[in-house]
Amino acid sequence: FNVPVAKNEPVLSYAPGSPERAEVKKMIEELRSKEVELPMVIGGKEVYTDRKVRMFPPHEISHTLGYYNQGDASHVEMAIDAAIDARKEWAELPWQHRASIFLKAADLLAGPYRAKINAATMLGQSKNVFQAEIDAACELADFYRFGVKAMIDIYKMQPESAPGIWNYNEFRPLEGFVFALTPFNFTSIAGNLPVAPVMMGNVSVWKPSKTAVYSAGVIMEVLREAGLPDGVINLVFASGPVVANEVLTHPDFAGIHFTGSTGVFQGIWKTIGDNIFKYKTYPRIVGETGGKDFIFADNTVKAPELATAIVRGAFEYQGQKCSAASRVYVPKSIWAKLKQQLGDVLATVKMGPPEDFTNFVNAVIDETSFDKLKGFIDRAREDKDAEVIFGGKCDKSAGYFIEPTVILAKKPDYVTMQEELFGPVLTIYVYADEKMDETLDILDETSPYGLTGAVFSQNRYNIEKITKRLTNAAGNFYINDKPTGAVVGQQPFGGARGSGTNDKAGSVFNFLRWVSIRTIKETF
Ligand code: GLU
Repeated sequence: FNVPVAKNEPVLSYAPGSPERAEVKKMIEELRSKEVELPMVIGGKEVYTDRKVRMFPPHEISHTLGYYNQGDASHVEMAIDAAIDARKEWAELPWQHRASIFLKAADLLAGPYRAKINAATMLGQSKNVFQAEIDAACELADFYRFGVKAMIDIYKMQPESAPGIWNYNEFRPLEGFVFALTPFNFTSIAGNLPVAPVMMGNVSVWKPSKTAVYSAGVIMEVLREAGLPDGVINLVFASGPVVANEVLTHPDFAGIHFTGSTGVFQGIWKTIGDNIFKYKTYPRIVGETGGKDFIFADNTVKAPELATAIVRGAFEYQGQKCSAASRVYVPKSIWAKLKQQLGDVLATVKMGPPEDFTNFVNAVIDETSFDKLKGFIDRAREDKDAEVIFGGKCDKSAGYFIEPTVILAKKPDYVTMQEELFGPVLTIYVYADEKMDETLDILDETSPYGLTGAVFSQNRYNIEKITKRLTNAAGNFYINDKPTGAVVGQQPFGGARGSGTNDKAGSVFNFLRWVSIRTIKETF
């Protein structure tokens, strides 16, 4: 069990004049100058079809990045067959070989592929360079390195033995294949969901979000270069319902590793229930879904720190994080000062394409998201229970740009205090200082989610009281920090209630879901 120590990949600064800045700029130019054609990868073979789907940056709709090959039900079947064919050999391969492949993939991401994976994320998903670095290069490398640590921690979990008796656990992979359905908002999550089960000896069918195919292609390139054998992960591009229909009705379906919307996850869970008699084994259902993440401040907070945390928590990557702060509770006594400081911080925030590194905010992912967000902003403008106090401009002429927007809600159960919007729209509710307890009750009861949340206070008794009162409101809880930016190996990530199965991405808790333990007793 003597293996390389898992350490977080250091995040580079991309400061003007730095070598990493020059490298990623060069890569951006290179990717912009040629149109790629991305195949599916099934059983190690590149698969092309007649249906080519155009890929473009969300911030520059007119520019073509390339095309991907769209598959149909027959390709999903091929992918399942390829996975099943690869299963036995992969499952029997000693774990050290599996670990080696992903340690190498991590080094490729942190080294020769760093600029490419970041540039692909910046262009394909409209993410600024700092957010891309944290996500694509660093967090994905962290997932692979800490994944190896999780494997080893699991293999060490052995039962007691007794005189004349030897007991041991054998960590078998699941009997079948695992389906990975991955989101657009984190390249790291897309690269982690198929891989975590595979590290534990499973095989996988992977369908990335249609708005993040470009970076998925780079992940697949890295995995193949690191030596991933054919058929272990099969990358398919087909519509969600087509893939789900094939996968979720297959007798060898053994589990799903999902990050995405609550509605889609609930639909999948229901389909699995409807097909339960078909499967050889009870499928593992692991999902991280929506959030309506909060910041709760009391009247002892330092307003400048709080203003910065709110802007970063709500607007980094245009608020398109499951963990993004989207509802804030502020006591009346500090509101005037905080409002002014929020205005000061927001005045420094620039919006535009990520190719210009001074733009903190870029475009939202697609037109559907743009229209939905604009709808909520327009509604707040007309509603007597709300007021748009900062931002609010929406423009989709060149790309899907929504200005960072702050809504002031006059009631704590206003629609944007409850519903997940997944964009740069934050709602603030100002409570009467003497009503802190009631406001905490409302916070806990008005949203169906339980992903992340933060308390801001300088008063230890309040910190303790609020933390305790909100026990079930968040799976990741922050004290005097923004509720985003969980680091692999440091803050295992996930939440309960409507936010998922809380299996804590990138940790031993998650990896345990991908094994089926056989306990062996031998007597001498
Ligand atoms: N782990 C990310 C964070 O803490 C959020 C992941 C997500 O959006 O799904 O910021």
